[in-house]
Amino acid sequence: MADQKKRLDSNVVGDFYVDGTCINCDTCRQLAPTSFEEVGDFSAVTRQPADERQMHQAYQALLACPVGSIGTEHSDTSRMKEAMASYPLHLEGGVSYCGFNSEKSFGANSFFIEHPDGNWLVDSPRYLTHLVEAFERKGGIAYIFLTHKDDVADAERYAARFGAKRIIHRADFDAAPDAEWVIEEADSIQVMPQFQVIPVPGHTAGSMALLYKEQFLFTGDHLWWDSRQQMLRAPSQLVWRKRVLLDSIQKLLDYRFEWVLAGHGDRTRLPVDEMRVQLRALVERRQPSKVPS
Ligand code: SF4
Repeated sequence: MADQKKRLDSNVVGDFYVDGTCINCDTCRQLAPTSFEEVGDFSAVTRQPADERQMHQAYQALLACPVGSIGTEHSDTSRMKEAMASYPLHLEGGVSYCGFNSEKSFGANSFFIEHPDGNWLVDSPRYLTHLVEAFERKGGIAYIFLTHKDDVADAERYAARFGAKRIIHRADFDAAPDAEWVIEEADSIQVMPQFQVIPVPGHTAGSMALLYKEQFLFTGDHLWWDSRQQMLRAPSQLVWRKRVLLDSIQKLLDYRFEWVLAGHGDRTRLPVDEMRVQLRALVERRQPSKVPS
């Protein structure tokens, strides 16, 4: 719950504000980019929502904030309910963004895939009755794909509730030592029709991407979209091995996909050819002779 007494001076005057407990995770800026911006070491409301759409987005951001740093001077219950009901937020083809990012994963995004042979959760949101009921209505969760060790959050509770199998790579196994399915391979594996697990070590030794339908690539912290610069990015800090990371980025050139759905950073959808151009450009920028980006 945000505290008006801790309201940051960087907020503009008006109903919505960010308080000093913000961990600068970027979630609000992804969900409501017209209202929230990074100012110094925190997010702030730099433009109050001015129409219905922006208001809805601001309430979605308030609910998704992992540490409850976003507040309103006058809460609108019906708008709050509408924002709540919008989660999981459908993106395309049965793939949704869960919302309710968890502080345990530093506010990482998580996603839900509806599939006739069993639904998938990709990384974990906060364990919340609203989401549990929503997943239940959609047929539960059969698999929980953990992109890497940092974004496990409440996966264990969701697995216990739905009898789901957690999938993690052996190299990141310490984050979920009782996971039901451990990936040992270094090469990609088709774990079932339409689902391909692609080990992408670099950020961590056990980072993995999940390719679904050759359309959606779930990337954890391996790759994300920078909407301000309009380019793909990969981590420059908190990297286990830089050379390995570059190989893992390059490896993705062998696959076709339209969506990049990241743990941290923006998501995007581009035509397959354009995505490949963006990926090539990233590989080029990350060559050892170039300045890291
Ligand atoms: S979502 Fe919350 S913690 Fe994350 S940047 Fe926004 S205000 Fe800060």
